[in-house]
Amino acid sequence: MQYFDLSELSSSLLKKLGVEDLRKIPVQPEPDAKFLNCLDNVTSYIEKNGGSVQFGWIFSCLGNISIKMTAHAVVKTPDNSLVCVTPNEYRTGLLKFAPDCSVENFIQNNFLPTKFVPLIDDQSLSEYIGIEAEQDKLRLDNLGIIAQSDLEQFKMRASLLYPAILSLAKKYTGRNDQCYCGSGNKSKKCCG
Ligand SMILES: [Zn+2]
Repeated sequence: MQYFDLSELSSSLLKKLGVEDLRKIPVQPEPDAKFLNCLDNVTSYIEKNGGSVQFGWIFSCLGNISIKMTAHAVVKTPDNSLVCVTPNEYRTGLLKFAPDCSVENFIQNNFLPTKFVPLIDDQSLSEYIGIEAEQDKLRLDNLGIIAQSDLEQFKMRASLLYPAILSLAKKYTGRNDQCYCGSGNKSKKCCG
């Protein structure tokens, strides 16, 4: 299973995530823009073209049972429209972005935080998400670097929970949902 880009975020899901304002914005990276370095990309874009920084969140889903909210920076152009200037591997077309200025308060050493939101109530899932959150906290505290030995520890702990997570994902994925495996295809045309 891998995280996937949700094709739509329903209003009930947005409510659960505490998101009131979801925009669909164009992705237009400069030729020298770097993956994962949204704040650097935005800063260098603004130096050249003007505008300001807009912080907010982007979303990805694990197995239709959990949402990862990743803090993200985009450009607010002088005419107040939003543009993402960071390339990404798996999102095509418009980026679903929720503006939230409070994200700025959580930046540590230029690194942006991640939030994990379970969509179902389950002990194994909260433990699994807890491990991911712990790993993300370590990343923020250590300038983006996680020691190999720590990574192995996280992997080992997560792997013990993985069978339970996989069966939950199968259980909560409908035939017409995006497949839990993360392929981006409908379940009935994939692992379903
Ligand atoms: Zn699949």
